[in-house]
Amino acid sequence: MLEITNLHAKVGDREILKGLTLSVKAGEVAAIMGPNGAGKSTLAHVLAGREGYEVTAGSATFEGADLLALEPNARAAAGLFLGFQYPVEIPGVSNLLFLRTALNAQRKLRGEAEISGAEFLKRVREESAVLGLDMEMLKRGVNVGFSGGEKKRNEAFQLGILQPKFALLDETDSGLDIDALRIVSEGINRFRSPERAVLLITHYQRLLDHVKPDVVHVLAGGRIVETGGPDLALRLEAQGYEGIAA
Ligand code: ADP
Ligand code: MG
Ligand code: MG
Repeated sequence: MLEITNLHAKVGDREILKGLTLSVKAGEVAAIMGPNGAGKSTLAHVLAGREGYEVTAGSATFEGADLLALEPNARAAAGLFLGFQYPVEIPGVSNLLFLRTALNAQRKLRGEAEISGAEFLKRVREESAVLGLDMEMLKRGVNVGFSGGEKKRNEAFQLGILQPKFALLDETDSGLDIDALRIVSEGINRFRSPERAVLLITHYQRLLDHVKPDVVHVLAGGRIVETGGPDLALRLEAQGYEGIAA
C-alpha cells in the first residue's frame, strides 16, 4: 500500500531523513519506534506534504501512485490520514462542521457525492460513543479547551468519521493516562481491517500492548535500521535505544 524507497528529506538546510526505506501492506498494523530526534515526526510530515519539508531524493508511492507529487489535500482524498503529535486548536470552527467539510471535500476530489446528514450523524453517534466524547465537545471549536487526552481521542474520532485507507498516527499515545490510552486504542483497533493499514509512530512500547502490531520498525538517524515482530518492541523497552545503530 505504501512503498517508501531511499527517502532523503531536509528541514531548512539540515538533512533529517537519510535514505529511509519502508513498506506497509494493506491489512497491516506497523509500528515505528525510535529515539527522540530520530526523524519520526519528520517522516510523518513529509508523507502528509507539510510545507518546509523538502524531499531531496527517493520516492514514496501510495497504492502505486506517486504520493510526493500530490498536493496535501489530494493525499488526504487518496485516503491518507495523519494524526499529529501535537494536534492544533482551531478557534471558531466547530469540530463537527470541520469534519463534515473535510469529508465532503475529500469525497468531491474522489468524484463521490456528499455524505447525507443522516449518514454523517450516524457515524458521529457511533464514534463519539466509543470514544467517550460528548456532543457539547464536538460542537466546540476544533480542540479548543480540550485536554491532551481529549485531543488524542478527537484524533481517533476524526479517523472514525473520515474513514481513510491509511492512518499514520504520530505519538497518539503521548500524554494519555491509562484509561484514555485504552479508549484511543479501541478507536484504532476498530479502524483495523484487511483493506486498511495503520502506521503507529511511538516512542514507548505501552501503546503496542493495546494495539498489537504485525511488524515493528526502528527508525534511528533518519533510516529504518531494524525490523522485527512485536517482540522487538519489548526488547527495546527493556534495553532502551542505546546500542541501536544509527
Ligand atoms: P522525532 O519525531 O523522531 O523525535 P523529529 O522528526 O521531530 O524527531 O526531529 C528530527 C530532527 O529534526 C531533530 O533533530 C529536530 O531537532 C530536527 N527538526 C525537526 N523539525 C525541525 C524544524 N522545523 N527545523 C529544524 N530542525 C528540525
Ligand atoms: Mg520526539
Ligand atoms: Mg516526533
